[in-house]
Amino acid sequence: MVDVITVVYVCGRCFSADSAPGPCPRCALPRVRCEPGGLADPSRQPPSDAHGRLLSRAPVWWLRAWHAARYPSQAMPAYDQP
Ligand SMILES: [Zn+2]
Repeated sequence: MVDVITVVYVCGRCFSADSAPGPCPRCALPRVRCEPGGLADPSRQPPSDAHGRLLSRAPVWWLRAWHAARYPSQAMPAYDQP
């Protein structure tokens, strides 16, 4: 059986990743908790509008994690829906 990484901590500046929380060893910034989901999870796709135009090149899981880390008390923008 293949193990799927469901939680990863990513630095928002240099994108170094680790399986444990803590500051980035390169930047000293706290890593962002990300939940990329399984291989078929739709949050692995970049968000697009009703016409199929990409709203970002980043996957939804990254946008969701970054927004939650930066604006913890604000609602997610509409692009959160894949
Ligand atoms: Zn870093």
